Amino acid sequence: MELNSLRDLYIEELKDLYSAENQLVKALPKMAKAATAKTLKSGFEKHLRETKEHVDRLKKIFSDMNTSPGNKKCQAMEGLIAEGEDIIQEDAEPEVRDAALIAAAQRVEHYEIAGYGCVRTYANLLGDKRAAKTLQKTLDEEGATDEKLTELAQRINVQAESPTPKSAAKKRGSKPLTKKIMEAVGME
Ligand code: FE
Ligand code: FE
Repeated sequence: MELNSLRDLYIEELKDLYSAENQLVKALPKMAKAATAKTLKSGFEKHLRETKEHVDRLKKIFSDMNTSPGNKKCQAMEGLIAEGEDIIQEDAEPEVRDAALIAAAQRVEHYEIAGYGCVRTYANLLGDKRAAKTLQKTLDEEGATDEKLTELAQRINVQAESPTPKSAAKKRGSKPLTKKIMEAVGME
C-alpha cells in the first residue's frame, strides 16, 4: 500500500478500524460472559450491539467511496484483546476480574477513540461531511462507553478492594486472600 495522499492514509486508517471493530464483535461476547456484575455484563452486551453498528457504518463509508475494507489486520487490537483474554483465564476473585475486564475494555475504547478522532478529522479535511458525521457518531458512542466504564469502575473497583466474603469463599475455598498472597510470594 502506497501512502501518497491524505486520502490514502484515511482509507488505511478506516481499514484498521474495520478490522478492530470486527475483532471486537468476536471478543465482546467472551467479555460479557466473563463478567460477574450484571451492570458490566449488560454494558458489554450493549456495546456489542453498538459495535456491530460501527462495522456497518464503516462498510457504508467504504461503499460510498467505491472501495473495499480489504483484509488488513489491526495488530494493536489483536494485542489488546489477547491481554483481555489472559485476564479471563486467570484464577481471580469475581470482583477483581470485573475490575480487570473494565481496565482491558477501557484500553480498547481509548484505542478506538484515538482512531475515530483521526479519521473524523481526515474526513472533514477531505470535504466528506457525511462520513465525518457518521464517524463522529461512532466516536461519541465510544466516548460514552468509556465514561460508563469509568462509572462502573468506581463501584466495582471498591468491591474488588474488599471482595464480599461469600464470593471470596466460593472462589478460593476457605483460604484467605492474604494467605494466598503470602504463599505466592514465598512468605508462607
Ligand atoms: Fe466501536
Ligand atoms: Fe468500542
